Amino acid sequence: MAIATTNPATGEMLKTFDPMGEKQIEEILANAAEAAAALRATTFDQRAAWMREAALLLEGEVVEVARLVTLEMGKRIEEAKAEVAKCASACRYYAAHAERFLADMPADARAVGARRAYTRFEPLGPVLAIMPWNFPLWQVMRFAAPALMAGNPGLLKHASNVPQTALYLDELFDRAGFPPGAFQTLLVGSDAVENILLDHRVRAATLTGSAPAGRAVAAIAGRALKKTVLELGGSDPYVVMPSADFDRAVSTAVRARCQNNGQSCIAAKRFIVHGEVYDAFARAFTDQMANLVVGEPLDHGVDIGPLATAQGRDEVAAQVDDAVAKGATVLTGGRAPDRPGWYYPPTVVTDLTHDMRMYQEEVFGPVAGLYRVASLDEALELANTTSYGLGSNAWTNDPGEQRRFVSELAAGQVFVNGMVTSHPELPFGGVRDSGYGRELSDLGIREFCNAKAVWVG
Ligand code: NDP
Repeated sequence: MAIATTNPATGEMLKTFDPMGEKQIEEILANAAEAAAALRATTFDQRAAWMREAALLLEGEVVEVARLVTLEMGKRIEEAKAEVAKCASACRYYAAHAERFLADMPADARAVGARRAYTRFEPLGPVLAIMPWNFPLWQVMRFAAPALMAGNPGLLKHASNVPQTALYLDELFDRAGFPPGAFQTLLVGSDAVENILLDHRVRAATLTGSAPAGRAVAAIAGRALKKTVLELGGSDPYVVMPSADFDRAVSTAVRARCQNNGQSCIAAKRFIVHGEVYDAFARAFTDQMANLVVGEPLDHGVDIGPLATAQGRDEVAAQVDDAVAKGATVLTGGRAPDRPGWYYPPTVVTDLTHDMRMYQEEVFGPVAGLYRVASLDEALELANTTSYGLGSNAWTNDPGEQRRFVSELAAGQVFVNGMVTSHPELPFGGVRDSGYGRELSDLGIREFCNAKAVWVG
């Protein structure tokens, strides 16, 4: 894919970039190695002050940055602004808590025959972050804030369709005061990742994106025995039981599916509804989906903008067409409009069977699969039927059912009576094909640390 900004609302290519050559990449890797040493010599207080400055810069530039994000990947301008604000809050969260999360952890010295014994957390060194376009600031920040606070330089290989956002992030941490090289963007395509990851100065990698990209990067890292964290796709279930607060379950379902124009790894994608409330849910949910306003993402009053790329839009259309060809029923939407840009309407599809792509795969667009079940057991079985295991949503006011969902949903997170959302305070990540490792919270900042056991006799 060319490294370029192309406006998804019009299809117009606005700016192209040449990928960096070997010399430039070498310079960046050398800077990162120097920055690793420089960061290790700084205190938590210093790093926290720079991180708070980064938060202030983001907040001061929210209008320009949000506009840039919308132009590059098509999310609604209000969502882009909210993403900037969320990034600032993550900066402040790790500025406030990193020292406590990485404080020495005492062990039972007597039990190990020592005078003192504890775990000490040390930075690993430069980490390569391979990031996607869907939350082009947030996905990066939830890696960068803990990494920098732990003392690890970041090397960002961003998705090829968000180069200007990548360059903004390259400068942000410099401007905030971090040592030169602490956070740098590598403007390269995915073909350059192998050599960069194998370089001895890069100590680990994190990737957010598709399962194939995760497999490719993990295989390279495996050859060099480098640690990876993978946050891959999901096909999150959204289960509605008869005791649920019906109106909230419906309106939240619409938001959970259509956030970010339907392009979120933790968007609810499969709506699994108990037979007692299925017909009413199908009617109300379809109505609300059909009433969403599709349009130019820079305009106010719009609910859904275009998908980020032509390829992404075509993929979503192909998944729906495949279901329809095999007997599924479209309750609303289901056909890309005839207009410039990569729009796809809010769509609800039912009568899905396991031979259909929509049943098995992640759908990265505003398309909901709707399923009727007769019992809690059937709901759980269907919810756990895909190869993914990222987030899961369960709507019920029955305490016994809540307990079963919490313990039996095969996912990295379960939200009961609410929609899956990432919070700095909670770990974020998946199981099975959704990846491994955790971002955010105290677990996230420790992923790229050497947990060094110290024994003093
Ligand atoms: P990709 O997974 O292909 O891209 C994500 C990042 O990985 C980009 O920086 C990309 O670089 C890089 N990349 C891709 N392939 C490789 C590789 N073999 N080696 C090293 N780096 C690689 O996502 P797409 O944008 O193509 O989207 C495809 C699907 O992935 C979506 O439809 C969705 O299902 C899923 N996805 C999930 C996301 C999530 O949040 N979990 C985010 C984005 C996508 P480059 O852009 O240069 O190719």
